[in-house]
Amino acid sequence: MGLKFDGNFNFIEEFRKLDLASPKCGSWTRASENCDYGDITTASRDCYMCFNSGNCQNAYFCEDSRGLKDCSDCALCENLELCYECIVCDSLYNSNYCQDCSNCNDIHFCFDLKRCKDCIGCSGLRNKQYCIFNEQFSKEDYEAKSGKLNLNDEAGLKFIRQKLEELKAKTPRMYVHQLDTTNCTGDYVYHSKNCHFCFDTRHTEDSGYIYQANLDMGTRDSYDCGPIPTGMDLCYDISYAHYLFNCKHIYWCGNLKDSKYCINCLESEHLFGCNYLKNKQGGFYILNRKVDEDFYWKRTEEIERELEGKGIYTIWDLLYKDLSKSAVRVLDDVLQRGCQICNESFELCEAEIAFYKKMKIIYPVYCPECRNKQRVSLRNERKMYKRKCSSCEKTLITTYPPESPYKVVCLPCYWKNIG
Ligand SMILES: [Zn+2]
Ligand SMILES: [Zn+2]
Repeated sequence: MGLKFDGNFNFIEEFRKLDLASPKCGSWTRASENCDYGDITTASRDCYMCFNSGNCQNAYFCEDSRGLKDCSDCALCENLELCYECIVCDSLYNSNYCQDCSNCNDIHFCFDLKRCKDCIGCSGLRNKQYCIFNEQFSKEDYEAKSGKLNLNDEAGLKFIRQKLEELKAKTPRMYVHQLDTTNCTGDYVYHSKNCHFCFDTRHTEDSGYIYQANLDMGTRDSYDCGPIPTGMDLCYDISYAHYLFNCKHIYWCGNLKDSKYCINCLESEHLFGCNYLKNKQGGFYILNRKVDEDFYWKRTEEIERELEGKGIYTIWDLLYKDLSKSAVRVLDDVLQRGCQICNESFELCEAEIAFYKKMKIIYPVYCPECRNKQRVSLRNERKMYKRKCSSCEKTLITTYPPESPYKVVCLPCYWKNIG
């Protein structure tokens, strides 16, 4: 590659070149069978067009869910069977068109129901059975009435939806969805404490701006992680990664320690600016090249200063930011600041400042929402295309469109060649 480590290489340019040259995995499945149409699937069987899902069987068009069986068109759900068009629900059986419901069966077009059975078009009920539009009926009347509701034509569906919207408008809403939390702000936060602005997050402590941390292995002492961070500790600016310790600016990596600006790396430590690398022998790496320890520390510190000077604050910036636009310096003591992307003002909280100081991170110049959008956009859209494995030529079903400039490989080739 002709890269000289005399200290004069252009890190940003070399990092971008390395990313283009490094193979990407066409679609990611683990311990799964017959789930080729989809991406990020674990321990699942016979699924089609499912994304970021685990422990699913016969699931179709489902996203960000776990434990679905015979379900279609569900998102952010757990433990559903025979369900259709459900969002943010858990433990439902034979239920359709539901939102924010849990531990129910045979409910349809319902909102915020807990521990209910046999309900149609209801909102905000607890421990009920045989209700239609929040009205209680006897078993016989329920059966007769529900039989008359036409769930199978457009006019019937429209009528039910309209009635449900009226009821939803009257249902008092809990100001947040949280369970077993202490000192947390955010929504859909469970079993967590001291969390600042976290969403769809479980098992997280002393952290902020964590998104979609839905697995049991939680996050501690970390900021700006997600989507799908699993088992983070002392981490910053991370997306689609698992089991990281003391890492910053990481995308799509697993089991890393003390590493920065890495993509597609596994089971390693002391990597800086690496891509598609599994460091088997140990040691210190910059841009996939093994370097002396002294050189590593000295040069990476210089690079970090250089990146900061050029307005590179995130892994997204390092990959894609237009460097022809001049960087705007922001004073470190301004706690109420304007986002350099959307201009909205945002504030830093005390815990967050302490974290940035401890981790030697400069205060963010983008608001939390723009930071999250950047991290989400690192991944491809949830669409599937056919193309050939760049290594073995096998046909792949992948989220990389045919015109994408990357080398895209099948899972066996991905594992075979990383190192
Ligand atoms: Zn913004
Ligand atoms: Zn292949």
